[in-house]
Amino acid sequence: MDRYEAVIGLEVHVELKTKTKLFCGCSTEFGQAPNTQVCPVCLGLPGSTGVLNKKAVELAARAGLALNCQINTDTWFDRKNYYYPDLPKGFQITQVFQPIAIEGYLDIEVEGQGKRVNINRVHIEEDPGKLIHASGSIMTSRASFVDYNRSGVPLVEIVSEPELRSGAEAKAYLEKLKAILEYTGVSDVKMEEGSLRCDANISLRPSGSTILGAKTEIKNMNSFRAVQRAIEYEVERQIEVLEEGDRVIQETRTWDENQGITMAMRSKEDVDYRSFIEQEIARVELTTDWIENMQATIPELPDARRRRLVDEHGLPEYDAGVITSSLSLAEFFEATLEEYGDAKKISNWIMGELLRLLNAHGMELGESRVTPGGLASLLKLIDKGTISNKMGKKVFAVMFQEGREPQQIVKEKGLSQISDVDRLAEIIAEVIDKNPKPVADFQSGKEQAIGFLVGQVMKATRGQANPGAVNAMLRERLAK
Ligand SMILES: [Zn+2]
Repeated sequence: MDRYEAVIGLEVHVELKTKTKLFCGCSTEFGQAPNTQVCPVCLGLPGSTGVLNKKAVELAARAGLALNCQINTDTWFDRKNYYYPDLPKGFQITQVFQPIAIEGYLDIEVEGQGKRVNINRVHIEEDPGKLIHASGSIMTSRASFVDYNRSGVPLVEIVSEPELRSGAEAKAYLEKLKAILEYTGVSDVKMEEGSLRCDANISLRPSGSTILGAKTEIKNMNSFRAVQRAIEYEVERQIEVLEEGDRVIQETRTWDENQGITMAMRSKEDVDYRSFIEQEIARVELTTDWIENMQATIPELPDARRRRLVDEHGLPEYDAGVITSSLSLAEFFEATLEEYGDAKKISNWIMGELLRLLNAHGMELGESRVTPGGLASLLKLIDKGTISNKMGKKVFAVMFQEGREPQQIVKEKGLSQISDVDRLAEIIAEVIDKNPKPVADFQSGKEQAIGFLVGQVMKATRGQANPGAVNAMLRERLAK
């Protein structure tokens, strides 16, 4: 691997969070019955012309500004001509010559190493329709269907410079990009619903060389983890090709998640799309005042928020990074902190129990029922000794599913620790009676025997005793 350097660039398509499509009034809502959100404009019927959606321009400008781009004050749309069944007009309206935003960057961190990745451009375009294959993939299916509900949904395409060097860097770039777009309200960035999609261009060159090798483009990656795996696989594959004395073929390849490999899909020439300016859609002139106003609406972004959580609340860098990686987590954390003062304890619960349960159920934070106030109350119950930390986790799981207050759950399920000394003394006496051997062992100096006895008491109380108190009481009773 040291003999080669991977040159990786990402093209990310992000659906803008508008109610209606880019050039018509059809709804952009996801998951509706096929071909129910269409009209002559987005079906590309002859004679139909659209009108540009102002909100899409605003969101695209916000994306550009949040990614440290320059905004072009004079920008317009172009026709990119190609044929595909999901593109009924025979051309896509996009921005070829003068994108709305250029020359930005975002900062990533991989294994503690910071890196700035430059962004070439951010441009607005319409989404094509969606092909649905009757069985399996485009490679194997005998029939395909087209759903035009997506046709004309506004997108921004965000094109990085080919400055990424590994799958891990690509994943970090996507995570940061997703967080920024979520913080700024540009998109709901749901990869599983296709509102964020990523293609990767990958080539290799001898280390130290500046000449670019032939590149392949990888498609069909459905998660950030898949992007990382696909890139790692493809880099290895290209190394093998070169090591065997062959050359890498410029082509489009598809990622097969199950097999964990990339497969050739079609050769990719550098085609000329014969693009030209779209005359039917008005040019967009943005004043510097308008751009400044838009800049003023950019909220605190993930890096700044992370810095603040470290500086103001003393969170470790790692915790602050995890918590600010999503706007909803960051807001949940800060809302909990308003009611409970220990930032580190809160971050432990968010990174431990909350994220674990979200992952286990494949849920977003917004879908769970647990509230910041609920978590704060739970932590207070643990601090008071009403329940143990271990019990707290059980209560939290119920809060997560049912959204009830922890006090109520503890009461209903009889989970509070047995702090009634008389009751506990009875149980301890029984355990001592039933276990003469460990008792004798302990009394003759075998210190570890106490652990067994504590365990027996915990078992008899179904874990509802405080282990520290049990230990102390046992020692008192067994002292000679
Ligand atoms: Zn329409």
